[in-house]
Amino acid sequence: MGYYEFNLKVPAKSKDALLNKMTEMGCLGVAENNDSVRAFFRDGLDVTMLRDELKSFRNVLRECGLDDGFSFDYTYLSERDWNESWKKKFIPIDVGNSLSILPPWEKGDDNRIRLIIDPGMAFGTGHHETTKTCLMLTERLAPENRRERFLDIGTGTGILAIAASRLGFNKVTGVDIDPLAVDAATRNAELNGLKDIEIKEGGVSGVQGCYDMIAANLMSDVLIMIAKELASRLDSSGIIILSGMLVGQEEDVAKALEISGLSVTEKLIDGRWVSLVARHNAKAA
Ligand code: SAH
Repeated sequence: MGYYEFNLKVPAKSKDALLNKMTEMGCLGVAENNDSVRAFFRDGLDVTMLRDELKSFRNVLRECGLDDGFSFDYTYLSERDWNESWKKKFIPIDVGNSLSILPPWEKGDDNRIRLIIDPGMAFGTGHHETTKTCLMLTERLAPENRRERFLDIGTGTGILAIAASRLGFNKVTGVDIDPLAVDAATRNAELNGLKDIEIKEGGVSGVQGCYDMIAANLMSDVLIMIAKELASRLDSSGIIILSGMLVGQEEDVAKALEISGLSVTEKLIDGRWVSLVARHNAKAA
């Protein structure tokens, strides 16, 4: 098991379009710097299809009047290379007023709430806009919440579940359909000395009961698909934090929420990414 790293040299005019394309193609994460973009894909995907899809994207750019003069190559990273490359890249980061995210080999600042994250093969080091916004919203909204039960759907490294536990939620559950994420999140809960966090393989349908706060940092089509189930798991006075939508996709997610009895009460945009806060309709009114 490993990853494909695509390295692109992109003209400034078509950079946003190419970043959106990478996300649409299922990339796990991107690192961008001036005219270079690095995008990571799971090796379960067909790399020749990815390559051809990217090549034919030139036609789309041209049709839209954008510069199609990008170049790219790709390399395979074994699991070991992947972990090593994370170690080089994963620098500690402060998020919100009180949180610090640290890899296990860093000590950090005693005055902040330290969340230790070993990413392993999972998504969620706190550097991505969507993770950062979910963390900031959890931190900000926690004091007005009952802080009994927190559910993290698509937990990845477990970062949001771990933050919720450290921010005072009593019963924290994280679920993920990817067994590698379940392994990473379980290990990270232990690394943080949090024995009470429950990490399970699966999606929202495998979760029973109601929660006071739910976080779901997933892609927009998944959010739309599970909107009804999300609403049914949210306590009548609960708060839900959604992220993972690209700018422009949030309207459709908001509509699916509305049909399910939830109303959006806040929208935050960071770069190309949108996060939403929603509550049951009566509560939002
Ligand atoms: N919560 C972390 C990770 C988000 S990445 C953070 O905020 O950084 C999204 C995660 O959701 C991935 O680990 C992926 O495996 C998982 N996922 C995707 N679809 C899902 C679904 N339908 N149900 C549960 N998990 C899902």
